[in-house]
Amino acid sequence: MNPESPPELATLPGSEQRSLGRKHIIDTIRKAGEIARIDIAHATNTSPATVTAIVAELLEAGLIAEVSKENSGQRGRPRIKLKVRCAAHKVAGIKVSRHFVSVIVADFGGNAIAHHDYPLALAKMSASALCQNILNALDQTCAKAGFPRNEVSSIGIGLAGQIDARRNFVHWSSSLSERNVAFGDMLYAAAGIPIFIDNDANLVTRAEQLFGKGRNVDNFIVITIEHGVGMGIVIDHKIYRGTRGCGAEFGHTKVQLEGALCQCGQRGCLEAYVGDYALLREATIKDNGDTHQTLESLFQAAKEGDELARSIFTRAGRMFAMGLANVINVFDPKLIILSGSHLSNDFLYTEEVIAHVQRSVVQVDEPLPNIVTHAWGEMMWAKGAAAYAIEGISALHINGLGSDAG
Ligand SMILES: [Zn+2]
Repeated sequence: MNPESPPELATLPGSEQRSLGRKHIIDTIRKAGEIARIDIAHATNTSPATVTAIVAELLEAGLIAEVSKENSGQRGRPRIKLKVRCAAHKVAGIKVSRHFVSVIVADFGGNAIAHHDYPLALAKMSASALCQNILNALDQTCAKAGFPRNEVSSIGIGLAGQIDARRNFVHWSSSLSERNVAFGDMLYAAAGIPIFIDNDANLVTRAEQLFGKGRNVDNFIVITIEHGVGMGIVIDHKIYRGTRGCGAEFGHTKVQLEGALCQCGQRGCLEAYVGDYALLREATIKDNGDTHQTLESLFQAAKEGDELARSIFTRAGRMFAMGLANVINVFDPKLIILSGSHLSNDFLYTEEVIAHVQRSVVQVDEPLPNIVTHAWGEMMWAKGAAAYAIEGISALHINGLGSDAG
């Protein structure tokens, strides 16, 4: 039995069961690349008759295509393989960071057509200003790719902060000067294209699950460290989002009573010790001056033996170890991926940090969960967002397919 097949499927109402079945089958085709109907039936633990019926719907909708006839080994019975139809849709994946809006436009198969970094003058702005910047970034990327914006079928967006992905609602984001923004509705009104917004760390987590180190791992945690600290949680192959979309806020778990001031307004958050801004702030305060403008220069100083720089990284490492041990004690994941584009991982992933983690977790006679680093560029965030846009548009089409026989 495939570990991803939802065990509750049989108890769902007919229409939902059919939609989930379609989703499961298109996911299976996407994952396999090319696959025959009978192998889909095996992989999804679904009857061949149901697979044949659903495949017919997906072919009719143009979401998948037949590829080639191949001899299965049983004489005279060629197997027709199926694949996702790349030309079915174009999607955009967008990651908003402090200095850039990074955009990828991709086909329905997830192949990048063009990408672009659109510079932002300000790290934080009004919702309407961010909306306009996102559209400008998208238009420029589409121009590079050689087609107009209205050929894009869906847009996936990763934002830092507390996002309720189910209703595209932003409770709070470090990119926005306002709170409680129906940002998805606002973007949809401006662009006329279906919008799917999620917390940026969740989208990196999805990218790790699809293309990275989380492939075929049922339970894992992704931790992102850049300006702030983010987390994605995968339980039984699914991203866990919490009830209000406010879960997995690893960066705002408290590691110190009355501790350092965090960008969320509270004190003692982990992020206020290990986020990029926190390290630079600490260096500035202790040095009575602004000697380190960038994390790179602070890190270089530490490597060259500068005592102050070293002490800052050592403290951050200890705080990080405390946080990691708490995560392991709560979730006991198979794998923890420290994922991001920054060299700051170099000091957070040291033997000393791992030794601190080892001492702080509940002691059992089993090894620690595997902790790995995965460094990648800004475009991987956007790639995760593009994958989310593909899932979103797939779901819209799948739910809208024909009337359900039950
Ligand atoms: Zn905080």
